[in-house]
Amino acid sequence: LVSRQHHPERSTVWVGDAARRVPIGPDTFTFIAGPCAVETPQQTLEAAQMAQSAGATLLRGGAYKPRTSPYAFQGLGVKGLEILTDVREATGLPIVTEVVDARDVPVVAEHADMLQIGTRNMANFGLLQAAGESGKPVLLKRGMTATIEEWLMAAEYIAQRGNLDVVLCERGIRTFEPATRNTLDISAVPVVQATSHLPIIVDPSHAAGRKDLVVPLSRAAIAVGADGVIVDVHPRPEAALCDGPQALLGTELRELAQAVRQLPPAV
Ligand code: PEP
Repeated sequence: LVSRQHHPERSTVWVGDAARRVPIGPDTFTFIAGPCAVETPQQTLEAAQMAQSAGATLLRGGAYKPRTSPYAFQGLGVKGLEILTDVREATGLPIVTEVVDARDVPVVAEHADMLQIGTRNMANFGLLQAAGESGKPVLLKRGMTATIEEWLMAAEYIAQRGNLDVVLCERGIRTFEPATRNTLDISAVPVVQATSHLPIIVDPSHAAGRKDLVVPLSRAAIAVGADGVIVDVHPRPEAALCDGPQALLGTELRELAQAVRQLPPAV
């Protein structure tokens, strides 16, 4: 269902309701930004305003945070979803947020415009199937040790439940290189585009884990023909409860937006 044999034309996935629908696909470059985690109403609103004023059209933000350590901040759950919907109301930005448990799919789908499935859950087949039945578009991140074939098969689990509104997200894979948290597999973009009709975006923030690499990796994503980027932004990265070192400030986000505008997507 996700292959170009089945559907030769590359697809566009629309996110949001009739009043504010945002396309992700071949004819546009979608800029998604927001805090890694929803921490407080104020922090989320400030991050959303920074994202919006830099030109982002979708807001990201985690209410459920699957952390490596069970002692790290795990997210605000439903309270976080409510903060996100308030911020959507205030800014008009549709929201994409992660769901980590199949049992939470209904409540997340009730609040969010797009469900995110993170790297740690790419092969959680029950979750993929539940997302496939949610009626909402899905942002499917690549498992950090998954091959492209395994990733596309994960997308197939969602599609098989009747949901072809899937956007793939390359967010780096585990390699032997310790200079970055993950190694951004930029070649995955054209490989996926040759094989699958689904849109593919890049997450340079979670790939690198370092904010100084976010702009160069975004430029690489644009140059290689990705359909968008998703980046972390925080009004006070030094105080962030999650992944502060990779979060951009407003000025840095604007620099990124300028890079997006200057470099036309590859043809
Ligand atoms: C995220 O985007 O909030 C996240 C945790 O990303 P990943 O699943 O790619 O690590």
